[in-house]
Formats: sequence, structure tokens, C-alpha cells
Amino acid sequence: MRVLSVASEVYPLVKTGGLADVAGALPQALAPHGIEIKTLVPAYPGVLDRLHPRENYGSVADLFGGPARVISGRTTSGAEVLAIHAPHLYQRAGGPYLAPGGADWPDNGPRFAALGWVARLLGLGLLGSWQPQIVHAHDWQAGLAPAYLALAGTARPATVITIHNIAFQGLFPYADLYELRLPPRAFTIDGVEFHGRIGFLKAGLAFADRLTTVSPSYAREIQGPQHGHGLDGLLRHRAGVLSGILNGIDTAAWDPASDPMIAERYDAEHLSDKARNAVILRRRLGLEPRPKAPLFCILSRLTQAKGIDLALGALHQILSGGGQLAILGAGEPLIEAAARAAAEAHPGQVVTIIGYDESLAHQFQAAADAILVPSRTEPCGLTQLYGLRYGTLPIVARVGGLADSVIDASDAALEDGAATGFQFAAGSVDALRDAIARALVLFAQPEAWRAVQRRAMSRDFSWRTPARRYAELYRSLVPA
Ligand code: ADP
Repeated sequence: MRVLSVASEVYPLVKTGGLADVAGALPQALAPHGIEIKTLVPAYPGVLDRLHPRENYGSVADLFGGPARVISGRTTSGAEVLAIHAPHLYQRAGGPYLAPGGADWPDNGPRFAALGWVARLLGLGLLGSWQPQIVHAHDWQAGLAPAYLALAGTARPATVITIHNIAFQGLFPYADLYELRLPPRAFTIDGVEFHGRIGFLKAGLAFADRLTTVSPSYAREIQGPQHGHGLDGLLRHRAGVLSGILNGIDTAAWDPASDPMIAERYDAEHLSDKARNAVILRRRLGLEPRPKAPLFCILSRLTQAKGIDLALGALHQILSGGGQLAILGAGEPLIEAAARAAAEAHPGQVVTIIGYDESLAHQFQAAADAILVPSRTEPCGLTQLYGLRYGTLPIVARVGGLADSVIDASDAALEDGAATGFQFAAGSVDALRDAIARALVLFAQPEAWRAVQRRAMSRDFSWRTPARRYAELYRSLVPA
């Protein structure tokens, strides 16, 4: 089966978030199922240099204001990529979405309409010789692909759209309709219209044959007003074709038994080696050397949605229980300042590192006893999955992918050996305090704590299961 995956970023070519990891993982994960995936991505600066060998795949005379070529090649992980080389749209200094200075590129409408348009050409067999049977769009940037295909009015491939985060929707003025190559008849409540504007994600959700998101709980939550960001009505209407598939993780890059970024490697049978990582991290960060104290960590963008304020609100519970806290993250200035202030108020017990540091993130996971993930909303979440794999018990809000991946250490779950962490009611600092208190009680019973760690580390969060689910989804659209 031939699938065209359409994404604005793909690891290892260009990455700003989890979408790149998913788009990067799908081709390899689905190959064993007899599914061939090519990924369509814009050629931002540097992308073409990372493709080998490069070949001309086809050209488009006028792609939203200039000529474009499609270049095929392979990434270092062997995935086949079709890159849209359109210098007037993508060859510029700055990020994929943001100009230097941090504002959206003013022409993001045509920039990502172009991504959908090339997907349309490939999907209809109008460009190159490889015609996909399924076009799988990711997030708002690819949202017009299913719309253009449905509006073409000819035989077309089946379409899927995956929502990685519904908060980002790609809204543009009605006046752009013609420039974005959308027919006036598409500007309806059943089409691309969203509260008087053109919604790229809305368009994808209205026109795609199947809708998916990155966890079963998030698939339910976005059908309600609290998490639906105005699209909940449409998603309820399309609930019959909407499903949630929990993301996998890169189990080679995140493996405590072979992680080159950590000081002491360990596995579930050698958990005492994990403690060496804590000794080294405490020293490195300037935390008091208290080997018996439980070390909690936060490893996150520092934003309101991530609930960092809730964690800081529960800090007293950690400290009064004899624990320490290490924070690594960057984000909203006010939250960064609050995290810094917490460290200044409790020198030696709380430390805050502002910044993005991949290897320190691995060291946090290897060293900490527990990781706090108090998000108010969380489509899938990765840090709790890494925590499970590293025996760093997650304390998570019961929301989205966090709810789906961590089994709360209730009395019953502890008794039958199912527990892998702690859950609390999202958004409640009291509930978080209670979860921390339960974690401290368990931590004081080393045998019981180790049993939960071993259970957490034995869970399979590889791409195997999600790949099977995507393969089933594809086969439901294009029977063999
Ligand atoms: P989101 O995509 O909403 O930020 P996820 O949990 O899905 O949240 O993914 C976050 C990813 O970014 C994880 O791989 C995490 O380890 C990493 N990360 C977050 N903050 C930092 C940081 N300050 N330094 C290094 N890695 C970070």
C-alpha cells in the first residue's frame, strides 16, 4: 500500500515539536506491514542538504507566487522524503512558522496551502509517477490537503488527518479565499469556514475520510467544549470516524541500558545503579547531597497549559516530605520567573535550569525518582513515557495521553501489580498535593517502590502497537 504523509516537519530533517517525531517514526514503523510511506515536507533551509541521494521528482510552474521543484531523497534513517523546493516560500532565515523576532510569517497561508496543493497534485497523479492510495495529513499546516482532494471532484485517494494539538488551527482571513485556491462554495460551515475565517485544521477535519489524534482520551476530550477549541461540535458530528492512537517513543534513543548521555546505565534488574545518576546530577546542579531523599523533577516547556504553576503550588508538599525538586525548561517569562524564585527560596533543595538541553533531559530522567507532569491539557505527552522507561515514576494529571499511559498506584493496582505511577485530577493543586503525598508514602517502602519501577519499565511504548493501529486504519480505507 502506498501512503503519502504530509507534514510541516519531520525528524531528522526539521523539528520543533512532537509532530516531527511521529512523522519521522511512521515510515519505518509501518514498513513491516507492507505499507510504503513517502513524507511530503517543505524544503526549509538545510533540508535538501540532509537528503541523499537527491533526485528531481517533478516541477510546479506556479506554486503560490513562484516556481517549485519537488526533490526526492532519503533521510539518514532511511525514510523516503519528497521535499518542496520553493525558494519564494521556504528559503529564508527563521523558523518553519515564525519569523526572526517571533511573529508568524505573514504569508503562512500560502506557505502551507502550497504544502496541501502539492499533496493534491501527487494524490491525483498529476506529479511524478508514484500515486498514493492514501494521503495522511498532519495538523493545520497540512489541513488543506484533504480539502483540495475532496474539492477536486475526481477520483482521489482516501484521506486521513491527525491532530497533534488542536490549539493550533491555522486561521486566515476570508479575503484570502481566492489566493488560497479555494472555491467560494467551500466557504461554508460544512467546509473550510470557521467563525468567518478560513480554518486549515477545520478544513481537514471537515473533508478527511478519517480523523485521528494522538491518544484515546484526547480523542474524547476534544469532542467537548473544554478541550475542543471551538471544533468540538464538528468532532462530535464526525465521532464515528475519529479515533485516538497513542504515540510511540524512540526506544533506542531513550533506553537507560544503553543511553550514552547518562553517567551510569541501568536496567530493571539493576535499579541501584540508577541512584549513581542522582548523586552525579545533585552535584552538578548544586543540590544538597541527600542520597536518601526522593528527587522529583519537571522537564517541560514552562507554560500555563503544562500546569507548572500547580507544581510550584504543591512545592511545600515535596519539601515537607523531605524531597528535592529539579526543574529544566523554558517558556513563558512569568512562569520562568516563578520557577527561578522557587529555587532561590530553597537553595540546595530546589534548582531551576532555564533552557533547552537534550542531554540534561536524559540525565534528569535517569536521576530522578519521580517526574511531575501536571498538564491542564496533553494530547499525548512524551516525558511521562520516558519516565516510565527510566523507572522515574510519573505523577500525572488525569488528562489526554497522560491518563492513557500511567496506571495510578491505587491500593487495588498496587495489590495486583499493575501500578506504574500516580494520577490526580487535572487542574487541582490539592489533588496534586495528595498524589505527591501518596508517592512519598510509597517511596518510604523501597521494596514496593522498586516493584512499581520494574512494572513501569516493563511496559512497551515502542512504535509496534501504534504502527499496528495505523496499519488497521489504512486497511479499513484501502482493503488489500
Ligand atoms: P510538548 O510537545 O507539548 O512540549 P511532550 O511531552 O509531547 O510535550 O514533548 C516534550 C519533549 O521535549 C520531550 O521529548 C522532552 O524531553 C523535551 N523537552 C521539553 N523541555 C525540554 C528542555 N528544557 N530541555 C530538553 N528537552 C526538553
